[in-house]
Amino acid sequence: MVERKRVVVVGAGIGGLVSALQLAIGGCEVTVFDKACEPGGKMRTLEVAGRKLDVGPTVFTMRWVFEDIFAKAGTALESFITLKPVDVLARHAWSETARLDLFADIAKSADAIGKFAGAADARGYVAFSKRAQTTYETLKNSYLLAAKPTPLSLTAGAGLRGFADLWRISPFATLWNALGDYFRDPRLRQLFARYATYCGSSPFEAPATLMLIAHVERDGVWMIEGGMHRLAEALENLARARGVAFRYGTAVEEISVHGGRTTGVTLSSGERIECDAVVSNTDTRALAAGLLGVGATKALNLSNSAPSLSAVTWALIGKTSGFSLARHNVFFSHDYKAEFDDIFFGKRLPGNPTVYVCAEDRDAKSASMTEPERIFMLVNAPATGDAHAFDKLEIESCAKRAFGLLQRCGLSIEFDPNMAAATTPSDFAKLFPGTGGSLYGPASHGWAASFARPTAKSHIEGLYLAGGSVHPGPGVPMAAISGSLAAAQVLSDMRSTPRSHRMVMPGGI
Ligand SMILES: Cc1cc2nc3c(=O)[nH]c(=O)nc-3n(C[C@H](O)[C@H](O)[C@H](O)COP(=O)(O)OP(=O)(O)OC[C@H]3O[C@@H](n4cnc5c(N)ncnc54)[C@H](O)[C@@H]3O)c2cc1C
Repeated sequence: MVERKRVVVVGAGIGGLVSALQLAIGGCEVTVFDKACEPGGKMRTLEVAGRKLDVGPTVFTMRWVFEDIFAKAGTALESFITLKPVDVLARHAWSETARLDLFADIAKSADAIGKFAGAADARGYVAFSKRAQTTYETLKNSYLLAAKPTPLSLTAGAGLRGFADLWRISPFATLWNALGDYFRDPRLRQLFARYATYCGSSPFEAPATLMLIAHVERDGVWMIEGGMHRLAEALENLARARGVAFRYGTAVEEISVHGGRTTGVTLSSGERIECDAVVSNTDTRALAAGLLGVGATKALNLSNSAPSLSAVTWALIGKTSGFSLARHNVFFSHDYKAEFDDIFFGKRLPGNPTVYVCAEDRDAKSASMTEPERIFMLVNAPATGDAHAFDKLEIESCAKRAFGLLQRCGLSIEFDPNMAAATTPSDFAKLFPGTGGSLYGPASHGWAASFARPTAKSHIEGLYLAGGSVHPGPGVPMAAISGSLAAAQVLSDMRSTPRSHRMVMPGGI
């Protein structure tokens, strides 16, 4: 009988869950360890006044990524979760009167933009949407789904046409500058520049290629019935059904490396687990900082890119009035440049924050709501959680500025402070060690940043990487793709080196 290869996955974030599932399907004996008590990692929930809120990702896109993952496991995504498309992608506000909705339908958005900013910008939007789509289509297979893309590999195979396509997507321009070609109204430039923050980056430093996120969102945003966390639960249930074992509340303290290859892990309890391969779903900076042992620091060379954004978030139950909330709402600051200068250069909470508000009880049918509702709010913040904990006063004053902006845009939220929970960069730093609270891996600043992310195969034999800090990048679907790439790499390496290198370690089990 052929011995099944044993794989340990460190972390049950989206990347870890997808890797574990696909490795089990590939015939491995898989155990997932997570120091948290449930699956999902950043896709987490908090209970406020007896009600559960999503306090991580709220915008679900690229559903085809998960349809593929469930199909490869012999089932259907819809058998596990119920998805409903949103009609209004997001409602945007700058003041009590300046408001704009974006829709999945280009013509509907162009019409709204025409009324908001004039016919030239409506035409600009249609042209921009086409370019965002071209960017996405150019990069989907050559970059997003590729195991180890390089600037050269992007054009290889497609010859001159590939080069022309690549040139057309302006890899060297910043997103902010590229948007100037399409929009005269600075508010529209700000609206579409915000997509850089989905990668935790400043639009003033991020490459224009990030406009592909605008296409991804226009291609569809879905609500998951019961909340985003259901997706993590669905992946966990499916992985269990395919034989994966999960051990929660169990931190991995060390990834053992002997003779340049991984031999197993040591848990915080001191228990040692021997295995043939390890997939690390922790942030890559945790590995580089030695938080998983000295041996694992050699797994990667991290570029010196700035860490991506952190956040201050509030989850609350409150009564809203004065502004008809959609599911996703963005209230913009009046000086976008100053906001990112505060965060990335000043390393302080923004003096004038842009505020994202998710009205978690709202869907297309709930235009007005008289009962207290679940509200999740997010303000971008610097990832200084390891070095400087913003004190209570700083967080309160940030909250005051955020609620002040909502008020100026017409939205009042009445709530009992006991029914609100804030999460700060230092809280995120504790939840995701080694990150300083940065939530999206390294920032995508400069054209080369996207190629500097570590890929699935680390420098250590038998140690693989998956998650938002790894290629192709952050976001729920991207982390899932990285999990698939890691599993594929493990399986392919195992096939090419069939002999088990597993070592028996003293004290090992
Ligand atoms: C507030 C917020 C809002 C976001 N909004 C969106 C959005 O709307 N749409 C979107 O697509 N994306 C969004 N994102 C990004 C998205 O959530 C992440 O990119 C993605 O979930 C990251 O998954 P991951 O695979 O990197 O794992 P992570 O979520 O980073 O999970 C890693 C896991 O590893 C565990 N771990 C770490 N160290 C150890 C150890 N030593 N031993 C055991 N376990 C360990 C952690 O406990 C954690 O569970 C948001 C993120 C945040 C925080």
